[in-house]
Amino acid sequence: MAAIFNRMIRETTMATGWAGDGAVHDQIDATIKDAIKRARSRVPKGPSLKRCEECDAAIAEARRKAVPGVRMCVPCQAERDKQQANLSGYNRRGSKDSQLR
Ligand SMILES: [Zn+2]
Repeated sequence: MAAIFNRMIRETTMATGWAGDGAVHDQIDATIKDAIKRARSRVPKGPSLKRCEECDAAIAEARRKAVPGVRMCVPCQAERDKQQANLSGYNRRGSKDSQLR
């Protein structure tokens, strides 16, 4: 029985190309882990601040309610987002290059 089972596994492996799928799964895994890491780093900690931690500008009550744990005023947050977008854009280009190679 064991021999038949082993043969079935071998044939299934050849038919579906599991080895190739494994590489794809690794790639997806890394992408998801990266996304989770990035999302976690963006989660603000602690209560919403009344004043921007960057420039000390007052943060509107509406913004503090809309963004729990907000730490920066809109212009500073936009600046920070722009920097992060640049960083992730750089990473995307980097991984695309390595895939082409
Ligand atoms: Zn600010």
